[in-house]
Amino acid sequence: MPIVRLEGVTKFYKYERKKRMAVQDIDLTIEQGEFVFLNGSSGAGKSTVLRLLGGDIWPDKGTAFLDNTNMSHLFGPWQIRLRRTFGIVWQEPRLIRKLNIYDNLLQTAKAGGLRNKSPQAVAKALALVGMQHVEKCFPAELSLSDIRHVELARALVCSPPILLLDELTANLEDDSIWDIFHLLMELNSKGITVVMVTHASRYVNIMRRRVVTLVDGHLAGDVHNGRYAQTVNQPPTVIKALKGKR
Ligand code: ADP
Repeated sequence: MPIVRLEGVTKFYKYERKKRMAVQDIDLTIEQGEFVFLNGSSGAGKSTVLRLLGGDIWPDKGTAFLDNTNMSHLFGPWQIRLRRTFGIVWQEPRLIRKLNIYDNLLQTAKAGGLRNKSPQAVAKALALVGMQHVEKCFPAELSLSDIRHVELARALVCSPPILLLDELTANLEDDSIWDIFHLLMELNSKGITVVMVTHASRYVNIMRRRVVTLVDGHLAGDVHNGRYAQTVNQPPTVIKALKGKR
């Protein structure tokens, strides 16, 4: 059961020949089976943290671990471990426009090393999100809500233990948002870890899960049963001590 851990992580991007800090000194551990919301305003570093957690980019300082493995060692043939561990939906849609939905998912399954089990895996993933009926469609023929469901199916195709989701519900109608949150809660109840960047404050406040908040690239809050963008950071030992004083 994989645990993902960022230890003292700092990441810079190069912008107009200058280094720009995206996140700094981040310590964050995600245990298997957790449901975590990543909150913060635009530019706070949420997508960067998600990419670091998934081994998509490597830290400039500090280390990103998958269990006890430094993820920057997982390149070349070892990348398949990342593909099988993380189901990812990026902020910008990554479905291939020239391929129908079935072939899009099949490509992901094959890249994840599923070989001749790929067709069954595609059918199972589409069924999980209720999208079997669109397998012959091309991305341009689908609504935004359908696209997001299909992207979730693609993230699930290799049966990963961890889902990393960047703004999966952005610009969707309330009904679709609820539908996706129900799906995610169901997947989480089966033991799948969910880490989700979202601005859907109403839903975060209703669900009361772990809320990690970033401000200007720094970890400003990490609260269990949290509210949207809550910036209090009380370790469990402190909470216990406070309760004892009441
Ligand atoms: P968020 O997801 O919270 O909006 P990001 O992680 O996308 O934040 O970005 C954090 C900071 O890093 C921002 O200042 C953003 O402009 C910068 N940044 C992100 N990606 C790149 C990139 N590829 N090149 C240069 N700067 C980037």
